[in-house]
Amino acid sequence: MKKEAKKENIENAIHKIESLKLRPVPLVGTERTVIAIIGDERILPVNKIKAMPGVEKVMEVLKPYKLASKEGKKASKVRVGDVVIGGQEVIIIAGPCAVESEKQIVEIAKSVKKSGAKILRGGAYKPRTGPYDFQGLGEKGLKLLAKARDATGLKIVTEVIDPRDVELVSKYTDILQVGTRNMQNYPLLKEVGKTKMPVLLKRGMWANYKELLLAAEYIMAQGNREVILCERGVRTFETYTRNTLDINAVPSLKELTHLPVIVDPSHGTGKKSLVTPMSRAAVAAGADGLIIETHCDPENAIVDADQTIDLDEFAKLMKQLDAIAKVIGRKI
Ligand code: PEP
Ligand code: MN
Repeated sequence: MKKEAKKENIENAIHKIESLKLRPVPLVGTERTVIAIIGDERILPVNKIKAMPGVEKVMEVLKPYKLASKEGKKASKVRVGDVVIGGQEVIIIAGPCAVESEKQIVEIAKSVKKSGAKILRGGAYKPRTGPYDFQGLGEKGLKLLAKARDATGLKIVTEVIDPRDVELVSKYTDILQVGTRNMQNYPLLKEVGKTKMPVLLKRGMWANYKELLLAAEYIMAQGNREVILCERGVRTFETYTRNTLDINAVPSLKELTHLPVIVDPSHGTGKKSLVTPMSRAAVAAGADGLIIETHCDPENAIVDADQTIDLDEFAKLMKQLDAIAKVIGRKI
């Protein structure tokens, strides 16, 4: 209530809240009275209450993302078979931006597995900025990913860009990826929410933490609680890098949500020279995993060649990450 609110203003507000079958708890201070309202806030006509005489503002105490919020649960783990994301182990995902051929994906899978990666990435459906750019191999790409899984035992993650493809992609993959451009594609979020598949949800390149968490909430509200968040950089005024990788996001999201948080230093920087340093930073900041674009012949990668590291660099990076993880009581 406003400082100058009259006694009758306060009483009217209390009666209004009671008439809505919510419970008002007046907290009388020396300067002003605050009325806590207990109950289901979905039935609270916020604007009507705000307009009542003597009312200063109506504040939400509970987060609008109830299932994703830390208010109810401390930390959750997402299990992909025997791979646990959000536990003591920092899970590294590696692979090309796009699946190009059997030889390419199997060679990369074998090498990154040897270096310690637990999950193979690779896009079969690519959301490209231009309609004439390579759009991915589609179902053929999914089959090749499944072959690479058979050859190595790695789990796989691949992007789904169309709600109509969720069923098909789920048949092949272990984790469904929702990309930055689709973070607010609500029909797609609902569709992946109806499955029991783990979902890797990438932050919209324009989205703040609350919007990312509300996107996760869309998935969770459908019954699927297996959500992993991914910081992948946001658009800023900087032009030297493709995006600005927001390392703040890691500890910040961990203050706001129980969901695991991983980092994508490849899209986050757009530059292969920055992938190793930013991977180290992400692990040091407490990320539960990384997703790194890695290729057997990065110069000739069909998609995202500029930000893709080679297999040797990946192997070296893994050793460094292991050392950093140990310092903070984790392991790779
Ligand atoms: C990707 O992981 O290949 C991708 C397209 O990422 P983003 O959606 O973050 O751009
Ligand atoms: Mn890419």
